[in-house]
Amino acid sequence: MIRMKAAIVAQVRQPIVVDEVELDDPHEGEVQVRLVASGVCHSCLHAADGSWADIPTPIVLGDEGAGIVAKVGRGVTDIKEGDHAILSWAPSCGLCHYCVTGRPVHCERRSTQPARLPDGGTRMRWRGETLYRFGTVASHSEYTTVPSSSAIKIRDDVPLTTVALIGCSVMTGVGAVLNTAQVPAGATVAIWGAGGIGLNVVQGAALAAAGEIIVVDVLDNKLEFARKFGATRTINARELDPVSEIRALTRRGVEYAFVATGNVNAIEQAWQSLANAGTCVVIGMPGTGEMVQIPGRGIAGSERVMRGSFYGSARTRVDFPRMVELYRSGKLDIDGLINRKFTLDQADEAYRALAAGELARGVIVNDV
Ligand SMILES: [Zn+2]
Ligand SMILES: [Zn+2]
Repeated sequence: MIRMKAAIVAQVRQPIVVDEVELDDPHEGEVQVRLVASGVCHSCLHAADGSWADIPTPIVLGDEGAGIVAKVGRGVTDIKEGDHAILSWAPSCGLCHYCVTGRPVHCERRSTQPARLPDGGTRMRWRGETLYRFGTVASHSEYTTVPSSSAIKIRDDVPLTTVALIGCSVMTGVGAVLNTAQVPAGATVAIWGAGGIGLNVVQGAALAAAGEIIVVDVLDNKLEFARKFGATRTINARELDPVSEIRALTRRGVEYAFVATGNVNAIEQAWQSLANAGTCVVIGMPGTGEMVQIPGRGIAGSERVMRGSFYGSARTRVDFPRMVELYRSGKLDIDGLINRKFTLDQADEAYRALAAGELARGVIVNDV
């Protein structure tokens, strides 16, 4: 057992506190990672602000971490002490129906209760109480203990502060384009939401050589980020109706619409902006109980498709190193996504900046 600092949400809608907690040594099949960097993610904000009702407290946030393996438990052979790793919030058993059919993000051997490791434990305590972990990895801390399938070994000559983002936003956004939708070159694409995930959808679309890349948001500073990452057109949805603008720009609608926000209106607009046989890919997660309404009448005739994309349909052991190589070759800009860095002690400030729309991506960097 070690004592370490972690950023804790004691109760939803309360400031994040940084305090000392206890972390158990890795059990069989687990590894302990000393965290170097951890991205500030919107899903963590949803957990902190109470919009996702099924998140228990007290909880350590952070689902986008990278670091150096400090200790390995019995039976771990795929990674060793000193290796650099990007953390995956989707541990996978390698043996269940979804793992063997190439969809490990749906692994059936996860905990059925949220915010715990696959065996139901959390390995963390705070003031004698069970401390939950957001997204398996609980990376807003100095160390974390995770199943070895959540610690993906990468080459050690890339900056962990940068490649940490591959663990959530890059994988989710770029993966939605390359893995889930498999957008072909020249396709027309529209994207709702130019936050940390949406900007990665934009660069994924640029990487796939999409034709028109139209980005919809309500903040001009975010639309400006989007242009930097490859958007060919931007629409401020506070000023213009995105559906009629997209229809006017593309005549028949877009072939792919990605929704990188949890706003249900955005999902409805994306659906209405599709061309016949177009695909709407929903990445954002609306709040608990929220419903999406689409007209039933046109579904058959238009042959449109609505589908979800979870973690960019990641196969993390293949995709994380692949994203690292795309970064190294300059095809993925991850450094440019990071517009603010924070210390662990500034975790609360980091989430306030995210809620205020000030971040493309913020990263908490542990002083090591
Ligand atoms: Zn995330
Ligand atoms: Zn599995």
